[in-house]
Amino acid sequence: MKIAIYPGTFDPITNGHLDILERAIKLFDKVIITVARNSAKNPMFTEEERLDMIRTAVRRYKKVEVDSFTGLVVDYARRKKATAIVRGLRAISDFEYEMQMALMNRNLNDEVETVFLMPNEKYTYLNSSIVREIAIHKGNVKNFVPPNVYRKLKQKTSSQ
Ligand code: ADP
Repeated sequence: MKIAIYPGTFDPITNGHLDILERAIKLFDKVIITVARNSAKNPMFTEEERLDMIRTAVRRYKKVEVDSFTGLVVDYARRKKATAIVRGLRAISDFEYEMQMALMNRNLNDEVETVFLMPNEKYTYLNSSIVREIAIHKGNVKNFVPPNVYRKLKQKTSSQ
């Protein structure tokens, strides 16, 4: 059984993340989408809120599991018996950071391979922080996120 993990902040999950997830499902028997509990970032949504949004957004995918983790991603991968870490590559701007992470992770554990997938080009400009920014300023993010995330963003920003 080929297992992959798809780690990220997912603050919140977007259609770009789902595009990558759907591609990963075609390559692996199981994909664990997992929220990194990263104290360095100051997220808009709590970990539980992010997990809830992901759970609802991925409910239709049979081969997907939702989880969260702390610590090194390679240690988490080992615990989950995963052989691959899935990451999305949108543009050259992603490349430098992603390459650094992938090579460092390989250094830490040579048995876990980082696999980069490219989203549909319509998602190449999309990221969670732009979505948050537009939502805070009452712009329309309907086309960028799953319906449940759209509703949650409206709720979250209506009081601000
Ligand atoms: P991180 O803080 O780990 O970068 P993100 O939630 O921002 O977490 O992203 C998780 C992964 O999803 C990363 O590999 C990122 O490149 C990828 N990703 C984010 N947005 C998109 C998108 N629009 N299209 C493709 N991949 C994306």
